[in-house]
Amino acid sequence: MSDRPSVARPRPEPLDALIVGGGVAGLALAALLKRRRPSWTIRILEAQARPGGTVGSIRHDGFTTDVGPIGALDDADGVVPLARELGLAPVPAAPEASRRWVWANGGLRPLPTSPPSFLASELLGPAAKLRALAEPLVPAADREESVHAFLIRRFGYGVARALAEAAVLGVSGGDPTRLSLDALFPSVRDLERRHGSVLVGALRKAREAKTRAAATAGAAPRPRLHGFGAEGMQAWVDALAGDAGEALRTEAPVERLERSPSGTTHVTTADGARLEARRTALAVPPHAAAALVGRALPEVAAGLAAMRSAPMRVVGLGYHRIDVPHPLDGFGFLIPRDRGVRSLGVLFGSSLFPGQAPPEHVHLRVLAGGVRDPEAAELSDDAALAFVRRDLRVTLGVDAAPVSLRQVRWARAIPQAELGHAERVASWRAALQERLGVTLLGAAYGGIGLNGAVRDARRVAQAWAPEPAQEPERSG
Ligand SMILES: Cc1cc2nc3c(=O)[nH]c(=O)nc-3n(C[C@H](O)[C@H](O)[C@H](O)COP(=O)(O)OP(=O)(O)OC[C@H]3O[C@@H](n4cnc5c(N)ncnc54)[C@H](O)[C@@H]3O)c2cc1C
Repeated sequence: MSDRPSVARPRPEPLDALIVGGGVAGLALAALLKRRRPSWTIRILEAQARPGGTVGSIRHDGFTTDVGPIGALDDADGVVPLARELGLAPVPAAPEASRRWVWANGGLRPLPTSPPSFLASELLGPAAKLRALAEPLVPAADREESVHAFLIRRFGYGVARALAEAAVLGVSGGDPTRLSLDALFPSVRDLERRHGSVLVGALRKAREAKTRAAATAGAAPRPRLHGFGAEGMQAWVDALAGDAGEALRTEAPVERLERSPSGTTHVTTADGARLEARRTALAVPPHAAAALVGRALPEVAAGLAAMRSAPMRVVGLGYHRIDVPHPLDGFGFLIPRDRGVRSLGVLFGSSLFPGQAPPEHVHLRVLAGGVRDPEAAELSDDAALAFVRRDLRVTLGVDAAPVSLRQVRWARAIPQAELGHAERVASWRAALQERLGVTLLGAAYGGIGLNGAVRDARRVAQAWAPEPAQEPERSG
């Protein structure tokens, strides 16, 4: 027994902010808090060795394969302005990025992106176009609808059959009969609400943008896809992780979460370390959140665990330019189900960001899987490569073998915002705040994709560390 007098060690002060999950939502929240409250003690606990969650890139033989998203639109409150604040220079995708196709009737057909191109589209027969023209006469509805039901009600069956899958494949790999239009495309619902018609609203918005552009002698501003050039999205993750510095702990999976009588939250990691925090955000995917809150809130945990997530396989292929007959003069194409091609979509990566392939080469990125074909994400790499090469032969005429290849499988790639999503999330959030004092954060709950994740981080930052509203300047 030691004869030294025992000295009670002072209890460490609770952290000002603890973030469980170092995906982009968690990392973005840390970056925002650091700028708003430089004196705060902040800690981010990430389960994996690599932060970033589903965002990152693999460099291989001079090619870049993004393992998740390839970029984000330059929304005012999304990824692009935050990346600039961190000292990065996001790169706009080549202007051709606005050209997209759908695989239909054995060929690549342009995806309509404006009311005129919609009505001229080869994807729609004359009867479907006639019905679509009647869209402005359809009364607005004040209830949540699936993407599929919304398209049928406003534009008719022909449009829903031709375009519902294409509308959701690119953003969620999901099922348009179950995905909520209101959660996935709130701006489309907004057009209906404000203008009584999607077509009329879209035309008015385009006209207003043109008038504004003419007044400022500039081009009509359209949100543009931005990425990080040759480095891919890894540059964004590296910048966020670099900004977090010592605050970020990787390989630190959180196993337990409890509320203390004083209102702080106690978090325990797998190696037994315990941390206490005044504010805690749970920035983990739904299945992980379910495991953490199950003891305190079994009903919330059951709801989180039941949220579907689309599995996804990402196949990055490098080719000699001469081996790909298609000009690749656009973003790429989507492949609705039941059209004899198994992949979900093909992205012309090096057309968008030319540094993503060496000279005289091109990079293609194929996505497969989704909620309707989960096996495609589970197959062996060899079996998957066989169907991917067959699909590229049928759609783009590529016979040659790739000169470089990488595959990534995500068992749970993209959480699905299905009907009732907003209501469920609101009730989970309220219960978690009340019983555990934690805030649910991330793209699965607060918005779609990367911009949704960053926007949700801004919401939490504003709640925890409000920025004073700008005083309007007074004259006189
Ligand atoms: C193939 C693919 C393509 C995509 N394409 C696009 C696109 O083009 N545009 C777009 O905007 N979005 C796209 N997305 C979606 C986008 O990647 C996500 O919406 C976004 O990255 C989600 O970020 P997040 O931080 O909310 O969640 P996540 O990325 O899921 O991060 C959660 C983090 O929590 C960690 N974690 C889990 N459990 C624990 C625990 N117990 N303790 C500690 N940490 C834990 C995880 O390891 C992970 O790092 C795509 C996704 C995939 C997979």
